Amino acid sequence: MEPVLSARQVFKTYGRGRKRVEALKGVSFDVLPGTVTGLIGPNGAGKSTLIKSALGFFGVTSGELQLLGNEPGSPHSLKRLGYLPENPSFPQYLSGREFLTYAARLHGLPGRSASEKVDELLDEVGILHAADRRVRSYSKGMAQRLGLAQAMIASPDLLILDEPMSGLDPLGRAQVKAMLRRRQDDGTSIIFCSHILDDVERLCEDLIMLAGGEVRHQGNVNDVLLDRGQGWETLIRCASLADLLAPIDWTAAGD
Ligand code: ADP
Repeated sequence: MEPVLSARQVFKTYGRGRKRVEALKGVSFDVLPGTVTGLIGPNGAGKSTLIKSALGFFGVTSGELQLLGNEPGSPHSLKRLGYLPENPSFPQYLSGREFLTYAARLHGLPGRSASEKVDELLDEVGILHAADRRVRSYSKGMAQRLGLAQAMIASPDLLILDEPMSGLDPLGRAQVKAMLRRRQDDGTSIIFCSHILDDVERLCEDLIMLAGGEVRHQGNVNDVLLDRGQGWETLIRCASLADLLAPIDWTAAGD
């Protein structure tokens, strides 16, 4: 099976002299097709650098990256890819429907099937009610949902999602998880970047853990977490959210 993403001894250095930052230091791994893989690590670990290099936004200093069997940036790969950047931004003067239709046409979807797909996806991500409002008026969570719809518009073989749960409330997170499971069942490969272990644990089968520009652990999510499971889990049981929040001194929160 050909990996959907492979890295061999990838190094990436930004800047020179005193401003030099070694963002990736010899990263190697394979992501196999049909898997949901979590790319996790603390801020500054090198996750975005790795993904942006694989997409061809910039070159690496040395080593080899392949996305869907091609060099980074190859149009053959990009048309089979859906990508959600960490902080997606949209033309503010377009409505959600207009933006998504534009994305569909860029992917070459013909008019009629584009508009059907647009409505279907707006519904699936839960913003069909706001489809004709300008993106300018969307909340952070609504914009994130629109970004997800954009990533899925061309039914890609590979979805790369950088912090897809960012800005979503608990209901939104549950909806996105369900949506990703449906894509997984359809055979879509998913790479999910996050620093929130809980989301990754619930969704992913495989894990690549980056820290300081190096792969620290990789493999099946349960094996990796069991291997690293030297910690405490706190289980809080309470009758209601009010009970849980009652001990908090809210008057101090605004200080
Ligand atoms: P992550 O996505 O895991 O938070 P990044 O890939 O964004 O990590 O960053 C890895 C390291 O590279 C960090 O030290 C960051 O400050 C640095 N870095 C990222 N982008 C640039 C850039 N354009 N110029 C210089 N340093 C950068």
